[in-house]
Amino acid sequence: MKKIAKPAKKAVKKKSVSVVKSKSGIKTASTKVRSVRSKKLIVANWKMNPGSIADAKKLFLATREIARNSKGVMTIVCPPLVYLDTLRKLYTKSTVLGIGAQTMSTERVGSVTGECSASQIKSVGAGYVIVGHSEARARGESDHDVNHKIHEAILEGITVILCIGEGARDDDGDYLTFIRNQIFSALSQVDRTKLGSIIIAYEPIWAIGQGRADIIDGHEVHKMVLFIKKTLREIYKDDRAMQTKILYGGSVVPKNAKELMHEGEVDGVLVGGASLRPRDFEAIVAAA
Ligand code: PEP
Repeated sequence: MKKIAKPAKKAVKKKSVSVVKSKSGIKTASTKVRSVRSKKLIVANWKMNPGSIADAKKLFLATREIARNSKGVMTIVCPPLVYLDTLRKLYTKSTVLGIGAQTMSTERVGSVTGECSASQIKSVGAGYVIVGHSEARARGESDHDVNHKIHEAILEGITVILCIGEGARDDDGDYLTFIRNQIFSALSQVDRTKLGSIIIAYEPIWAIGQGRADIIDGHEVHKMVLFIKKTLREIYKDDRAMQTKILYGGSVVPKNAKELMHEGEVDGVLVGGASLRPRDFEAIVAAA
């Protein structure tokens, strides 16, 4: 008998879904969700920064302060792997601050020079892992690898932050098909009951690292949120799949954070560049 998962904690009062055809001919879900506000997730992707453990500690302590003073926000810091163990000793796991890895291996054991397995990152404190980031995909991480990593992370009880996003937009809507395929492939053989361990970050590659507040607006982000939810429902044939948390990432700065989060109706944001600047990061957290 199929196991029925408990409903996700996010409080969804009432939901109605209708399917409409977009200009591109691809059906998108129009979802009206009356929800009680749930905690926003703000993920700090430090990438290959800062340049030393001393600076990483300083940045982490500043971020920890921001997280502790925040309301209704869960901050997740993803530093370079090499800093994880030191940083996790500077905080106590809580409902306002978590720590994650930026990558992990597809393999569980073996001769895999330069890589770290899911159990290894977990052993140094990672409760989360970023998978499928466009910068990792550009260096060779394939859809197959992404799927493999997701299964490995779930086995270890690590929450996956799955990044998806198109390189460019086109008038025919091919980018939507591209995103749909990324989601289908990443979640292949992932049981619906495991979706609580998956957070999807929509990160259009053209928006990443631009630092431009006007690169995308809340309305466009919301359209993509609906499309991702519709794709999840298509995969799992179950409305509950649409409760999966969805983030937006790509040039989130203090100026656009509020609009992207609220008009975009995302569960939070993934922040690269601005997460290295405590003042900016504080403003983003405050906007949640
Ligand atoms: C990222 O690389 O995941 C990202 C969101 O970067 P930035 O905020 O700098 O665009």
